[in-house]
Amino acid sequence: MQNILFPTSQKTSRSAELFERARKLIPGGVNSPVRAFRAVGSSPVFLVRGRGSNVVDADGKHYLDYVGAWGPLLLGHAHPDVERAVGQALERGTAFGFATEAEVRLAELINEIVPSVEKVRLVTSGTEATMSAIRLARGFTERKKIIKFIGGYHGHVDSLLVKAGSGVATFSLPDSAGVPKEFADLTLALPYNDVATAERAFAEHAGQIAAVIVEPVAGNMGCVPPSQGFLPALRELTQRDGSLLIFDEVMTGFRVSRGGAQELYGIRPDLTTLGKIIGGGLPIGAYGGRADIMDMVAPEGPVYQAGTLAGNPLAVAAGIAMLEELRRRPLLYSEMEARSQRLADGLQELAVDARIPTCVNRVGSMLTLFFTPGPVVDWSSAERADRDRFAKFFHLMIERNILLPPSQFEAWFVSAAHTDKDVDITLDAAEEAFNALAQELS
Ligand SMILES: *Cc1c(COP(=O)(O)O)cnc(C)c1O
Repeated sequence: MQNILFPTSQKTSRSAELFERARKLIPGGVNSPVRAFRAVGSSPVFLVRGRGSNVVDADGKHYLDYVGAWGPLLLGHAHPDVERAVGQALERGTAFGFATEAEVRLAELINEIVPSVEKVRLVTSGTEATMSAIRLARGFTERKKIIKFIGGYHGHVDSLLVKAGSGVATFSLPDSAGVPKEFADLTLALPYNDVATAERAFAEHAGQIAAVIVEPVAGNMGCVPPSQGFLPALRELTQRDGSLLIFDEVMTGFRVSRGGAQELYGIRPDLTTLGKIIGGGLPIGAYGGRADIMDMVAPEGPVYQAGTLAGNPLAVAAGIAMLEELRRRPLLYSEMEARSQRLADGLQELAVDARIPTCVNRVGSMLTLFFTPGPVVDWSSAERADRDRFAKFFHLMIERNILLPPSQFEAWFVSAAHTDKDVDITLDAAEEAFNALAQELS
């Protein structure tokens, strides 16, 4: 597929050859839609290795990486402790399908860092975590309806694939084919950060809502922080109605602060879903929360959920190494905060200098540069962003060896491996990119 808009050298490259081969056998040539680069109108870069804040593509080109495997790599690529832990686990075997001591250790670490998770079940992806949490909430409350927020993504769970943010929005699929209308009917999708609409929904559907599931900092419509009062209102509304509050912290857990968004904003949800960082880059997910609710899960209770590779020894070893490193380095979060703030402020200043209307949202080491004056507080304000301008910016940056998520509606991740020098390099590249965009405008 020759790209006329962005004829960069990468198109006649090894990545391009691999993509041609991939498209013959894999739908769209990728195993997850956002990797396809369609949102930026080009074709994907194939990566071969990474270390720290850097990745290398199939043509040997190096990039400074702000994707971080879409969130898991808080410590950067190929962190030595994580690699060592996985190597040691590998020597003992890849899987048993039996209980292991390491799973107990990981549960203890999660419970210590995220105290609302009194009991936890390990699964193999974030999607499986949210799917199971929804089933559990329905089983516990004996109610059917779920509230989610427009632009919130909770994995590709049938009942949650309604107005589901970046991946879906990027491809302009209103919802997914293959999800029966009857499933979607049980899901109420409300505007993010809008307390009045949530109050009205609870008044209209009183006693019928099993759970509210929310990204406590939205990351899948780009980074959108919760407005003051939004999360407390959800806590109060659910409590009053006898429904459950589920924080989907698959992205924010161990990211926006060590204890996740619930620690940062001081809200205790009933259930929490985790993933990404707890596997250090290996496939894992988890759901947990109040012990009385978790005791409904089989074999303790009647809500069935299982997994052949759940608690896989390699993934668990990586997760333990990751969480232990987070405990060992008390300054890690303040350092990431400082670098991320310098990056976000720098981007905003450079855009203002170049007279490109932008709005940079950031919480901790998650940020998004929206090509709209903003403020971006929900999906409808995010959607005003100029996607074409983002696509141009993305290509100007990738030409300068900076790899951003290939969609306007994704969060960029700064890792503990990113240095002050990395931020300088990124801002220098961004200055050139903004100036090139400005040139085009004038
Ligand atoms: C990534 C993500 C998921 C899905 O996790 P997978 O491991 O991709 O299935 C769910 N919720 C949120 C908030 C996420 O960011």
